[in-house]
Amino acid sequence: MRMRKKKHGPERIAACADYFIHSPDEITKKPVCLEIGCGKGAFILETARRHPEKNFIALEKVTDVILLAAEKLKAEAIPNVRLLNCDAEQLPAFFQKGDIACIYLNFSDPWPKKGYAKRRLTHSRFLAMYRSLLRDDGAIFFKTDNRDFFDFSLEEMRKEGFRLENITYDLHHSEGTEENVMTEYETAFAAKGLPIHRVEAYMH
Ligand code: SAH
Repeated sequence: MRMRKKKHGPERIAACADYFIHSPDEITKKPVCLEIGCGKGAFILETARRHPEKNFIALEKVTDVILLAAEKLKAEAIPNVRLLNCDAEQLPAFFQKGDIACIYLNFSDPWPKKGYAKRRLTHSRFLAMYRSLLRDDGAIFFKTDNRDFFDFSLEEMRKEGFRLENITYDLHHSEGTEENVMTEYETAFAAKGLPIHRVEAYMH
């Protein structure tokens, strides 16, 4: 996500310090549900509100973006979300096998050029890493508007041994959507009439 540089960024991050994870020792409440690439945080904050019994971590690599999630989290005093400002590549430094109950990937960058396929967060190298950290009964929930990226992801997930359930190419016109929590990108894409694709990928 591109974002104009925020004014007083470091001071504002410091004011939200309590809401960030600074070292692996702080990941005490396990297992957690993890969103990778949370953007401004609309999805994880609403999901956490709906599930006060669960613990959530939202990871985002762009500091000026996660800052907005941090300020909302602080303003709304939601107790069951913590933030990780790092790249998804660094997950193994923070988590061990079994720490993660589920992973949300919402509108991840599609990296459409073939040469960049390895950067896609559903590339088999990422899926293998997620598998090494997820609980045995864990799952990945993936949404995107990009059909090619979606089809690529289904193939990669199958290749990595995930069991795929509830595949839909048009989430907003499928059954059971009252459970769906909208993300910022999803709201924008749906307003343009673009269909949203979703899959649940289970470990076993
Ligand atoms: N999930 C949000 C934002 C989608 S845009 C929504 O649906 O509205 C994708 C987000 O993922 C961007 O904010 C981008 O900075 C972040 N991102 C992309 N690659 C990442 C990576 N390797 N590690 C962490 N965050 C990443």
